[in-house]
Formats: sequence, C-alpha cells, structure tokens
Amino acid sequence: MPHELPKAYEPGAIETHWAEYWKGERLFHASTPAEGHVHNVFSLLLPPPNVTGRLHMGHMLNQTEMDIIVRWHRMRGDLTLWLPGTDHAGIATQMMVERQLRSEGKSRQELGWEAFIERVWCWRKQYGGAILEQMKRLAASVDWQREYFTMDKNLSHAVREVFGRLYEQQLIYRGKYIVNWCPDCGTAISDLEVKHEDVPGKLYEIRYPVVGSKGFITVATTRPETMLGDTAVAVNAKDERYTHLHGKKVVLPLMNREIPIILDELANPEFGTGAVKVTPAHDPNDFQAGLRHNLPQIDVMDERAHMNENAGPYAGLDRFAARKAVLVDLEAQGFLVGTKDYTIAIGKCDRSGTVVEPRLSEQWFVKIEPLAKRAIEVVEKGYIRFTPENYKQIYLNWMYNIHDWCISRQLWWGHRIPAWRCADCKKVIVARETPSKCPKCGSSNLEQDTDVLDTWFSSALLPFTSLGWPEATRDLEIFCPTSLLITGFDILFFWVARMIMMGCWFMMPPEKPVRAGDQPQTHEEALRNSVPFREVYIHALVRDAERQKMSKTKGNVLDPIEVTEKYATDATRFTLAAMAEPGTDIAFNPSRTEGYRNFANKIWNAARFMFMNMDRLGVERTLLSAKVGEEGGAGFTPQTLEDRWILSRFNGVAGYVNEALETFRFHEAANRIYDFFWGEFCDWYIELIKPRLMSEEGSDRATALLACNNLVSLFEASLRLLHPVMPFITEEIWHAIYDGKPPLKSIALAAYPQADEKQIDLKSETHMVVLQDLIVSIRNLRAELKVEPKLKVPTQVYAHEPEIRTVIEQNRNAVERQANVEQIAFIETSLAKLPGARHTARFDVHVIYEQKIDIAAECERLRKELEKMEKEIANGDRQLSNDGFLAKAPARVVDGLRKRRGELEVLRAKTKSKMEELGCK
Ligand SMILES: [Zn+2]
Ligand SMILES: [Zn+2]
Repeated sequence: MPHELPKAYEPGAIETHWAEYWKGERLFHASTPAEGHVHNVFSLLLPPPNVTGRLHMGHMLNQTEMDIIVRWHRMRGDLTLWLPGTDHAGIATQMMVERQLRSEGKSRQELGWEAFIERVWCWRKQYGGAILEQMKRLAASVDWQREYFTMDKNLSHAVREVFGRLYEQQLIYRGKYIVNWCPDCGTAISDLEVKHEDVPGKLYEIRYPVVGSKGFITVATTRPETMLGDTAVAVNAKDERYTHLHGKKVVLPLMNREIPIILDELANPEFGTGAVKVTPAHDPNDFQAGLRHNLPQIDVMDERAHMNENAGPYAGLDRFAARKAVLVDLEAQGFLVGTKDYTIAIGKCDRSGTVVEPRLSEQWFVKIEPLAKRAIEVVEKGYIRFTPENYKQIYLNWMYNIHDWCISRQLWWGHRIPAWRCADCKKVIVARETPSKCPKCGSSNLEQDTDVLDTWFSSALLPFTSLGWPEATRDLEIFCPTSLLITGFDILFFWVARMIMMGCWFMMPPEKPVRAGDQPQTHEEALRNSVPFREVYIHALVRDAERQKMSKTKGNVLDPIEVTEKYATDATRFTLAAMAEPGTDIAFNPSRTEGYRNFANKIWNAARFMFMNMDRLGVERTLLSAKVGEEGGAGFTPQTLEDRWILSRFNGVAGYVNEALETFRFHEAANRIYDFFWGEFCDWYIELIKPRLMSEEGSDRATALLACNNLVSLFEASLRLLHPVMPFITEEIWHAIYDGKPPLKSIALAAYPQADEKQIDLKSETHMVVLQDLIVSIRNLRAELKVEPKLKVPTQVYAHEPEIRTVIEQNRNAVERQANVEQIAFIETSLAKLPGARHTARFDVHVIYEQKIDIAAECERLRKELEKMEKEIANGDRQLSNDGFLAKAPARVVDGLRKRRGELEVLRAKTKSKMEELGCK
C-alpha cells in the first residue's frame, strides 16, 4: 500500500515527528575519521545561548541562517560540524538564582558559597538549557552528541590553562584601576555592559580658597560628593589666568585639607573656568592625571556606594544623600557660587539599571596590546573576512583603541580565578591545580581569590577549547579553524573580537599543538591558520512589521515558538530567509509567514497530485532514479519543449542559489526557489504536462509513464533544492516519494543540486517565454472582453519570425488548453493596427469576440506601455554604454541586453503605429 500524504498539510505533527527522528538517528553527528587528511570540512560554532535564555526572534533568524548554510554544506558532501552548547552566563544566572532564593526568604550570603554554587547547578539541571530544547523544534541540525556547557570539567580545565599561560607570559596582571562599578550588583562591569544616557542634571560651581591669599579658584562638577576625595586642582599651563597660582595650594572646603594646584592637560582653558578638581579614586581621567602627578588616591565610598570613613562627617550616607548634604553645607559656608542646568552623560548598569560609579579597585587584567596586534593583522590581511564588509572597519577601529581587559568579576558563579594568596608571606600563586602549600614559605595557609572570570573570558576560547584544547585532539586538527561564524552585531566586541584575539594567540605555534609528521609552516601560514574562524557573517535585527524594535515595554515582541506553532516552522524559517538581505533589518510581518505557509500548501497539493498519478499509472516509487541536479544528471528525459525548459530553468536556478548562499544572500536564494517551485514548476510545468500524464491507452501509456517519471525526478530534485530552508515538509514528501524506503536516511544527506551547464538550454527558455506570453496575452484579452470563462473562442496569431511561428504551431494544443481558445489561425499580416489586438515583439494576437472597443481606454493602455518601453530602452542604453559594466558583466547578460534592446525597438514601432491607427493623442 503506497504511503499516502494526508489530504491536508498539518505541519505540527510532521515537524515534531522529523525533529525527533533526526535527533534519534544522530543524523547530524560529525564523526571524525581517525586517520588521514580530511578534505572539504565545514565547521561552525553555535553562539552559545545563556543557560538562562529563552529563544527570541533574533535567535531564530541567527539559527535559521546557520542551519541553511550548514544543511547546504552537508548536502554538498562536506564533513560538516555545527557545534552546540550553552554559556554559564555568570551574572545572569547568579541573579536568576538569587531571585529564586529571595522568594524563599533566603539570601546567597546566608547560604554560603558552596551551598549557593550547588544550588546554581541544581537550577541549571532543572531549568537550564531550555533554549536548546526550543532549538530542536526549529530543526537546528547541530551535533547533539558534542553539546557542551562552558563550566564543564574539560572546559574549566582549559580556562585555567589559558589563564596560567597568559600569567606566565606576563600578560595577566593585578592592579588598581578605575572600573565601572555597579553598587547594586556589587561587581565591576565592563565598558560594554554600561548603557550611556543623557539626562538633565545640574552643574555646580564651587570655589576653593587659595592658601595664603584672599583669592579663590572656581571649579565645576556634576558629582559634588566626590570632592571629598579631591587630591588636587588642575589648571592648564598655557592658561594665563592662573599663571600667578602655579605652585600654590588650595584648601579643600568641608574637609579642610590642603591640596596642590597642578599643571595638567586635563584642564581645558576653553571650558568653564579652565580649572578642574582632580579626584583620582572616582574618575578615570582623574585617575590617569593622578598617576602622572603621583597624587594620593582617596576612595570615599564603599562597594554599595555609601560614603566611607574617608568622607568625614558624611560617612554612612548613600552617595545621593551625601550629594545633598554636601551642597547644603557648601551653600551655608559660602563656597557654592553657582548652579546651572546641565545635561549629564551617565552610565547605567545594563542589568540592574543602577547608575554606575567609577571606582578604584583591585582587579585582574589582560594586557591586551600584543593580542590585539595579531587580531588586527589577521583581519587587515584578509585571513578573516567580514560580511557585510563595513564591519571590518568597525572591528578595526575598536581594536586600534582597545584598553586592557578587566577580567575579574565579584561574583560567585563562574570560573574562579586560579590564583591563591599565602596568608603568611602574602605571595600570589597562579596554578593549574589547587596548590597545597606555598612554594615560597611552605605554609599551607592558602586562600583562593574570591573573584570569578568575566563570562566572556571562557567564551572567547570556545573555538579551540570546545574541540578539546589543550589536548592535541583529532577534532582540533580537523575542525579548527572553524569555517564561519554567524552572529549579531551586539556581541561583535564582547565575543567576536575576543575570540579572534585569543584564537590567534593560542593557535599560533608553539602554543598550537603540533602533531608528529606535520609539515613545518611558514609564519604567514601559521598566522592564517591561527584564526578561530575564516569568515564572519553579521546578521541584521528582526523588528516588528512597522520596523520598530521589539521590546517588552512596547509589547510588540513576537515569540518565535508561538509564530511557528501558528504557521509552521518551515514557513517561519522561509519568512526570515526571504527577508534576510545582508545588512538590512527585517520587518517581520506574520502575514508574510501566512503566505509562505500557502507556499508549503501549494507544494503539498502538487505532491498529492503527483502521487495520485503515480498510483494510477502503477509507478513503483522505489525504483525511481532521482538524479536531477547531480553530476551526470540522469533520471529526467526531456521529450518536449516544457521538459527542456523546466530542466534548463532548474539548472539555472540551482546555479543561482548556490552562488547566493556562497555570499550569504539568503533572501535571493529563498526568493528564487520560491519563484521556481511555485511559479514555474507548479503553475506552468505541471499544468503543461497534464495531457501527457493523463493519456493512458496503448502506446500513450509509455508517454504517460515518461512524463510521470520526469515529474517525480524533478519534484525530488526541487525538494532537495528547498530542503535547507524548509527542512520538514521536504523531508516528509521525500520519504513519501520513496514509499518510506528511501535510499538514504534523510533528504538532509542527499546531494544538493548543482547547475549542469549542459542542461541549460536558452533556446527552449526563449521559446517558452513566447508561449507563456501568448497564453497570458490571450487570458488578458479574454478578461478585458469579458468572455465567459467556459466559452472557447477562435484566435488569430501573427508571428513574423518563422522560428517563433513554428514553436507556436508545435505547441498549439498547449496554448489552446491553457488559454481556453480554439482554432488558432495563423495569418500573414501584422495585427498590430487592429483595435483590441495585443502585440509583442514576437507575435500579435487577436481574440475574435464581438465587443466594442473603448478607444480612449485602449489609448491610455498603449500610452502606459510606451512609457514603460522608453524607460527600459533608456536603461538598457545606459548599461550598454557603460564600459565598467560591460567589462564586468557576464557575456550572457550582455547578449541578453542587446537582444532585448532589438526587441524593444520592434515593439516601440508597433505600439506607435497602432496608436496612430486608433488616432490616439
Ligand atoms: Zn548592576
Ligand atoms: Zn607563603
């Protein structure tokens, strides 16, 4: 009993079924050959979602693009690895678990470090990685057998190894530094985690009395509470207003401390009074100035941004309360001389929204310059390519101005910094394994640093650590460098740039494991092979239908799972692909998804039609040789014009789609497949072969069988063409074609169609265009003349080229059937001047049916046509006279343009003569 497709296309059940099947069969596991060199490898890392994450539209776009590329490579026969995993997401996960604790009336501090960490692991077991479950439903063809978590044992081991090596290379150091401090999260946060905002505020002018005179120096500040920690006032050496004060001191109001007047570039004579207060412990620029002048650093706040004992009478106050108190006192004592409205640029913590406080603290840093140097070189030399190209410069600009990377975080959840401090002799020990005693004094009284590493530290290593580094694994040898990275702009600096720095540092000899028998590489080869990935594709944003950014506050967030449940995953994937033009944001409109669901429906119905005919004709489905689009291209025997045409079109489209995917033009690939599958294959080809398919008697049966075979093999090939974009429906129909006994476990393992130049038949394509034009012209004429749908009408055709006339004659039946006319009569003179007739460059056609012609409307129609023609002529002329274009464009395109130019000339003449005849003005 042949496997039947259900009458209605019900994607829900189909998609769940195949998602389970793919995973169960381990179809996407890239098994590594133990020996030998492996050619044609394609590997790609899934940007690991946070373990706390939930899938959003951006993920879905990202994953759809990755999956299309991955499936495409797999079908092209590459050893393909798409490596999935989740990120432990330090701060995000810790906050999630702390929130849970709070709801139970507990806190992290009450629990203690060990119990809290255990609690996080429990949380992860229970809730973490839900996002990967969601990915399965979206058909992501990742290698589930290799799934990792950034806190896995081997990855944690690799993190320690990297830290240790960098430390030994003196590229990790501990230092006091001004960091962005979030008083709520209680941790340092990176520049990238600070959101900048302009808010209305005040600028306060305060005067500081000059020691030994009656004069004052006036400085301005937006954060007056920080004056409590001032250790100097700076003026510019060139500023003549202050020459008399060089070498003098001022008294710091409220604190009654004497502080020096220093000469520093920090003071800009053009701005305000030209004098500035210097607070090295609370401002990054002042910090630098402080280092230049050896100023003391007086920290006046604690880690919660409350004033500390250094703030004298203000100790204990929150920073904003202190600000008020300081202002009141300054005013009362006559030091506050002005208050102005002022726009303040403030930084807020990306997570808690708290105003960030620049704070002096002891942190771990990576000395970034040597790493950045190499990361710049590989991009400048093109060893890593960016698409869209403009990201290359954005990346480089950031890299040229990079600062040392503060890698410590005051959190509990994460990779603990592998550094210990001897309580007795104070020595700092950095080690791979937990040391038992101090190498200097032998004491066993060692305490591990309580900070953890920035989450991005471990994810920066993933391109090599996820493949087994520091072991010299076969995976590392085969899959590293990875081929491609697809990700969003938002993590270009957080992640992409750091992967390049770490990759190029650790994958260069001697750090890169060298296997026995490997050829020595030149420095340049080594550098080229040190990259973590060879290409980076930065995808766009998914916005709502009105191009608004999706946000919870606006309430316009679309949940990809809801959309897929409503319209099918295939249709949602297709929507994203069809709109994914590189560098252009996507305005996601579910009505388009509905349209692509109709597309799936159309394919479904065409498949049902095909199966009905196979069953009627008794075609053994399992015996089909389905090779269209493969080398040798058997399986399809062209018999008629429409056969030659569709085979040629298929090859043309396959060539186009492969080229588009090569350059990440997902939208062009998807749209071309859509136009082909629906427009050319379903609407034209299937309609045109129906008469052959339906002939059953005697020798006609052979014709029918052949037509059926052609239909099936082209359908099968078209499914393969579409598979990377719509994996589910194609898998379902493909299995049905083979009656559940396919030659391979999945269409995902079948060959992707490639263009076979020998099967491209431009003559047939031209002929088919004439027939389609003729059929459409007649249909339009019938509609205009309001001919009853069932009535067959006689038709006259004039074609001046014998070749065209022959084509129409040979396909007369098809035209009569498709356009519902009878007795096509060929006449010997042009019909161009006949009112109501249609003309094209190749033919004139007239439907014989009594109806009065509306001369004015007809003139209007012709005028519009003429206008269109003139435009096209002008366009063509411009292209054909452009030397640059002529030099670059393929010969086929230029020939096509010239030919079209000739046709337009004929058409214009015909149109003009007809307008004259009708007396159009
Ligand atoms: Zn915060
Ligand atoms: Zn010691």
